[in-house]
Amino acid sequence: MPYESLYLHVPFCAAKCDYCAFYSEAGLAPAWRRRYLDRLREEFVETEPLASIFVGGGTPSLLEPAELDELLGLVQGNFRLQPGYEWTVECNPDSLTPARIEVLVRHGVNRVSLGVQSFLPTLRQTLGRRGELGDLGRTLACLRANGILRQNLDLIFAVPGQSVAAWREDLARACDLGIEHLSAYALTIEEGTRLAGRLATEEEDFEAMWEATDEVLATYGLRRYEISNFARPGAECRHNLAIWYGGTYLGCGPAATSFDGTTRWTQPASLADWLAGVPPERDELPPRERACEILAFGFRTIAGWQWPAFEARTGFVAQDLRGPELAELVEQGLLEPRGDGLAPTRLGLLLNDSVLSALL
Ligand code: SF4
Repeated sequence: MPYESLYLHVPFCAAKCDYCAFYSEAGLAPAWRRRYLDRLREEFVETEPLASIFVGGGTPSLLEPAELDELLGLVQGNFRLQPGYEWTVECNPDSLTPARIEVLVRHGVNRVSLGVQSFLPTLRQTLGRRGELGDLGRTLACLRANGILRQNLDLIFAVPGQSVAAWREDLARACDLGIEHLSAYALTIEEGTRLAGRLATEEEDFEAMWEATDEVLATYGLRRYEISNFARPGAECRHNLAIWYGGTYLGCGPAATSFDGTTRWTQPASLADWLAGVPPERDELPPRERACEILAFGFRTIAGWQWPAFEARTGFVAQDLRGPELAELVEQGLLEPRGDGLAPTRLGLLLNDSVLSALL
C-alpha cells in the first residue's frame, strides 16, 4: 500500500481536560487497554518502508511500561522504516517515567512531544489541565541522556485571563529547557468540551500574543514554519509537514484518519464502536477536489507551495484548478509569489480560514 506515514491513536487519558476536543476516554479499567492492543494489530497492513510514525492520543504514556513495550513492539514487528525515519510519541510530563523512556529508546523512538499547555498554575486551572508537570527539566535531560534529542513542547495561548506578559513567560520557560520545537496553539473553545459555555474566547490580545510568539522564539533560534509550529532550522516535524503537503498515511485506532492519496476515512470516535468493528466513515472526493484540498492545506506552511512539488504530488496544475481564486488571494494580500509558487503572507497565516474557504 502507498502509505508514507503511520499514525496510531491511543485513546486513554488519566482525566479529561476541560478544553479537549480530541477523542479519548478517562478512567477506564485496564481490561480496555488489553482489548485495544489486541484489536489494533488487526488494522495493520503491508506498506512500503515508512518515513514517519506518530503515536498520539489521548495519552500514549499512560500505557503501563509493559503495554507501551507491546504497542511499540507491534509497530516494529509489522512495519519497516526508512533510513532517517522520524518516530514521535506524545507524552504527558508526569507519566514519562525513566521506565517508559527506556521502552521508547529500545524501540527506536527518536522524538517526544510533551503536552505542557502552560507552566502557570492559574492558567492550568482555567484550562482544567489536571496532570502535573513534575520535574520537566529532569525528564528532558533523561530523554537527552538516552539519545532522544528531538523534543517538542505544546503550549496554549489566548486563554481567558492570560496576559501577553504571562504568555511571554510561558514561551521563555519552555525555551529555557533547551527544546528544538514548540507548538503554540490558540485556544479554541469547541462545542462539546467542558469549557464550552463556561468561558468566552478573548480575542483582543490575540495579535499581540501572535507577534510575541515570533519575537520570543526567534531569540532562541526557533522560527515559525506553520501556523502553530516553530522549530530550529532542520528540526521541523517531518510527519506533520508530510501531512500538510498531502502525504499518505495509515491511521489506526479509534478516531484515527487515514489517507491513501484519493480517499480519506476515519475510524469511529468511540472505543466501544471501534472494538465492535463499526466501519470507518469515508470521505470520497473527485480527484480535482482532492487536489484543491491539498493545495489549500499546503498554505498552512510558511513555505507554501512550489508548483513543481504540487504537480508531482497531485498530478494537477494549480492554476488550472483555482487560477482566479489564487490571483484574488494575492490581490487581497493573503498570498504572495515566492520562487516558482505562492506562499502565505503574515496576514494569510492569521486569516488562514479565508485562504481555505477560497480554495476548497
Ligand atoms: S488535552 Fe490531551 S491529556 Fe487532556 S484530555 Fe485531551 S488528549 Fe487527554
